[in-house]
Amino acid sequence: MSIVYLEDLVKYYGKTKALDGINLKIEEGDILGFIGPNGAGKTTTIRIILGLLRKTSGIARLYDQDTWHQAADMHQRLAYIPDDVYLWPNLSGGEVIDLFGKLRGGLNEKKLKTMLDRFQLDPTKKCRTYSKGNRQKVALVSAFSSNADLFIMDEPTTGLDPLMEAAFQESVQELKASGKTVLLSSHILAVVEKLCDKVSIIRQGKIVESGSMKQLRHLTRISIDVITEKKIEDLDQVPGTHDIVIDRDRTKFQVDSDKLQHALLYLTQFEVKSLTSQPPTLEELFMHHYNNSNQNETQTQSISGG
Ligand code: ATP
Repeated sequence: MSIVYLEDLVKYYGKTKALDGINLKIEEGDILGFIGPNGAGKTTTIRIILGLLRKTSGIARLYDQDTWHQAADMHQRLAYIPDDVYLWPNLSGGEVIDLFGKLRGGLNEKKLKTMLDRFQLDPTKKCRTYSKGNRQKVALVSAFSSNADLFIMDEPTTGLDPLMEAAFQESVQELKASGKTVLLSSHILAVVEKLCDKVSIIRQGKIVESGSMKQLRHLTRISIDVITEKKIEDLDQVPGTHDIVIDRDRTKFQVDSDKLQHALLYLTQFEVKSLTSQPPTLEELFMHHYNNSNQNETQTQSISGG
């Protein structure tokens, strides 16, 4: 039995077709990255899985039960982290965490202590005083302290600073080590790449790529911005390099992640003064992938344009 099973899932909002036949399976122990550009249908898919939204047609099952008719006790087995966390303004963070804990069939007090500490959250403050990042932390602490088996996260780190992003990653690694199942929707491919074993890419309401991280690695490129003492020559001859732009002593280019080592070694002969590298954004990958494989596809143009 798959934990989540979606087949030909279609969702219309009035005349807008948000989901156009989604097929997706999440098995026990999967850490699945769910990625795609804005408006692709990630939140809609997640809300149908959670039973918060009704599908138009197709099959949507959670733990082998129809998501819309699922029993309420199903929610004791899952923890959901929404992208925009709404909290009761007059309750303290701690009270909200307790409340979520009760809904999810109890909290692990030891984990709760660890998580409050790790996310540096003061649970005594009223929710109305929390910043967006702190509201996000309440949701994260509450989810990671639960005994849930399935974790569904929709852009869970949007308001977090890099330290907290690291705390988040550590917590997901722990879930992974303990065999929990995670659906992680995110725009940040580097995080997905680091945490997830499998990835499904959604675009315009359809899953366009699905597979293990290894299978998808051919999509990944790293952006390099380098300043050198001597002018860089013949970089285009180095395997795996793309989109080279040279402006006096500064060179920007992209390199396939498995060719990085080779490219960096090549650069050293021109005396590197500074170098920054950056994994591509998902949108960059999308544009790259679809521009190359579907040059004439008009839908691709609209993604490139937007
Ligand atoms: P993002 O990354 O921006 O959060 P997403 O992948 O989560 O996007 P959805 O929010 O699921 O995308 O939206 C899918 C499509 O459905 C979009 O075209 C969106 O405009 C539309 N949509 C979403 N919610 C509604 C709604 N309540 N009413 C009408 N259209 C909606």
